[in-house]
Amino acid sequence: MVKDDCIFCKIVSGEIESNKVYEDEHIVAFEDLNPMMPVHTLIIPKDHYDNIADNIPDETMAHIMQTVGKIADIKGIRESGFRVIVNTNDDACQSVHHIHVHVLGGGKMNDGDPSL
Ligand code: AMP
Ligand code: ZN
Repeated sequence: MVKDDCIFCKIVSGEIESNKVYEDEHIVAFEDLNPMMPVHTLIIPKDHYDNIADNIPDETMAHIMQTVGKIADIKGIRESGFRVIVNTNDDACQSVHHIHVHVLGGGKMNDGDPSL
């Protein structure tokens, strides 16, 4: 499932370059273009879903979330800690409407601030 003019679908197809951290048959993880923390990696399914509430198959969502720990290991932040964010629609400032899980870490974040 691909959506025309979706930049993350284009990252999946290779039409847009990305700095890949991890890839398998179903998902891709790549570095955020504008990192908000020293570690800022995005995990996406290869199939297009607009957001987390877009009827994503259970196994796909589970696979994405299971990969968070793998990314934390690859980036060396499992022990120090990290934050996982899924912005959804306008109030949460979702700017790319292909579901993506932000994995943020590599430094101390504010306590209880949902914007970081
Ligand atoms: P959100 O605001 O939750 O929709 O997050 C979208 C994220 O995608 C932002 O953090 C952007 O910096 C990031 N982003 C946008 N275009 C690209 C791209 N071509 N490669 C990597 N990250 C991107
Ligand atoms: Zn897409």
